[in-house]
Amino acid sequence: MFVSQSFGGRRLKSNLFSIFEPNKLDMFKGLSQLDFSRKFQSDEDCYQYLVEHKWADGFKCVRCSCTNYYKGRTWYYRRCKQCMYDESATANTIFHDLKMSLLQAFQMMFRVSARTKGMSTVELGKEVGVQQKTAWFFKRKIQIAMQPVESNKLKTNVEMDESLVGGYSEGKPGRSLDEKEAVMVAVEILGDGKVGNVGLRHIEGFKKEDFEQAVDEMVDKEAKITTDDFPSWVALKGKMPNLETKKSEKGEGFKELHVQIMLVKMWLRGIHHKCSEKFLQGYLDEYAFRFNNRNQRYKIFDILVGKMMHLQPQPFTRNKRLCESNT
Ligand SMILES: [Zn+2]
Repeated sequence: MFVSQSFGGRRLKSNLFSIFEPNKLDMFKGLSQLDFSRKFQSDEDCYQYLVEHKWADGFKCVRCSCTNYYKGRTWYYRRCKQCMYDESATANTIFHDLKMSLLQAFQMMFRVSARTKGMSTVELGKEVGVQQKTAWFFKRKIQIAMQPVESNKLKTNVEMDESLVGGYSEGKPGRSLDEKEAVMVAVEILGDGKVGNVGLRHIEGFKKEDFEQAVDEMVDKEAKITTDDFPSWVALKGKMPNLETKKSEKGEGFKELHVQIMLVKMWLRGIHHKCSEKFLQGYLDEYAFRFNNRNQRYKIFDILVGKMMHLQPQPFTRNKRLCESNT
């Protein structure tokens, strides 16, 4: 029942990742820090990984599509035989022109994706040895790579509920309602009653238009949706024949869904003490990506690198205050 993640259209060579093989995994329950440190000890190890990743299906020049190449200016470059364009393993990827070493970028991706718990950029920066600001910018890119794609849409049986998160920050110990943000939580309920994938969407409010948009973005058209009888849902029933509403019975009717809502809130509050409205969706994407890949933790790093390789550079305003107030 799992929505499988693609490697951005590329298949990885299996011999590359012998250390990550499922049977070796049972010992680690995921790619451990030790596995990672053994595999990636230098920038060269990371370049090697990218080379094999980028040209896993063979070389194809980005300029002229020629498939023949010479050795390029160094071992991780390939020079097109036809147009002589010399392309590095990092060219046209998010790994080009990093503000840190490639190894540090890999270490950061490993920590964000494969660690049991997520990490704030304060912790990340300290562990990897870069400034918090540098960690902050790179983490935004990781979160963009973690955004769900069309094929990740929730299928078959989906339960949905709206919730409020946040309001923990700004140095105030309590929370106030007006600092909270609305989030739509969607959960796939499998045949055995267990949870499949989750979807999380920052929504503007609790109007039916907000709900409709969230359904559109997260749920497959063929899926059956069950919600409580909140008026905005009831108002959508005429428009959505696949929507069924029932009484929530104080959450009892949607047990798994409410467990998931609690987990998301705990995660946001525990790790990311500060998270502004503007970046909330990034954290939600991070949570959902990690959760939806929980049964393939040994591959989650590979999946993330695959997605990062296809990410175009994103402009972010370099604003110090922004970094400090969103960890
Ligand atoms: Zn060429």
